[in-house]
Amino acid sequence: MEQRIKGTTGLLALIGSPVGHSGSPDMYNFCFRYHNLDYCYMAFDIKEDQVPAALDAMRLFNMRGCNVTMPCKTAAAQNMDELSDAARIIGAVNTIVNENGKLVGHMTDGIGFVGNLRDHGVDVKGKKMVVLGAGGAATAIQVQCALDGAASISIFNPNDPFLDRAKNTAAKLKKEVPDCDVQVFCIEDQDKLKEEIAKADILVNGTMAGMKPHEDVSLITDKSVFRPDLVVCDVVYNPEETKLLREAREAGCAKTIGGKGMLLWQGVAAYKLYTGLDMPVEEYKKFQA
Ligand code: NAD
Repeated sequence: MEQRIKGTTGLLALIGSPVGHSGSPDMYNFCFRYHNLDYCYMAFDIKEDQVPAALDAMRLFNMRGCNVTMPCKTAAAQNMDELSDAARIIGAVNTIVNENGKLVGHMTDGIGFVGNLRDHGVDVKGKKMVVLGAGGAATAIQVQCALDGAASISIFNPNDPFLDRAKNTAAKLKKEVPDCDVQVFCIEDQDKLKEEIAKADILVNGTMAGMKPHEDVSLITDKSVFRPDLVVCDVVYNPEETKLLREAREAGCAKTIGGKGMLLWQGVAAYKLYTGLDMPVEEYKKFQA
């Protein structure tokens, strides 16, 4: 690595807190080496109130880009020169590209979700979707799928503070993407949930339900909703197959899709924004093995 760094080397970084556990530096530095790009990637522990200073530093050091993780995604969006449509509607960014001094904010989580579905032979265009959740991951999915042509999205969330966020997303999408019919329901209304899933092509868990150490949780308790042509997806990637996905598969759903691919594809999208190149995914997997 040291042999690669020269006076011309450009910097990219992850900002957020904590970042010490992140695999991003390893992945991006491998890819830069692979493509012989004169960049290096670091991780900086940045708290929310430090975001404006971090963005000033990004400009000052002429950094090519930053990935943004919690708790900085909203503050970063508020300090961009320009936002992608998804980032503007969501009000959060996870990828910043420095375009000749202009900081452009993107949200690639939803792009990653759509890319992962495409990788499994599923196109969201024209599809009816049920999405459980209204936090960061679920909102990114709802907005990107609406932008990418989903016919309808029924959002179900517990009656907690995130429910207002779901209503806010629905109101914004009604204005921005009027062709997509977005409705919000309380997940406590199990009859409505069953009715909406019966009409849907794609069911998505966008909450942390089922994530370690709560592997024994699934928000779908009535397994009769599963049918072979219902595509069932989860944002949770640890475990790789959640209780929801396992029960859907055992009930005969032909396509069950976990969150690991979404994570990979959102990184692929960010890499493309930074470099214009396709991330060498297979080569990196081999390198890791
Ligand atoms: P968040 O805190 O922003 O949102 C939490 C959501 O879960 C809300 O809708 C909330 O109402 C709901 N919720 C919380 N507790 C619940 C419960 N007991 N029962 C039902 N719903 C409940 O979280 P987030 O950042 O959106 O993350 C959610 C999950 O998505 C996590 O497991 C995270 O690891 C995963 N994630 C995956 C990817 C990926 O690329 N695959 C990306 C981002 C997040």
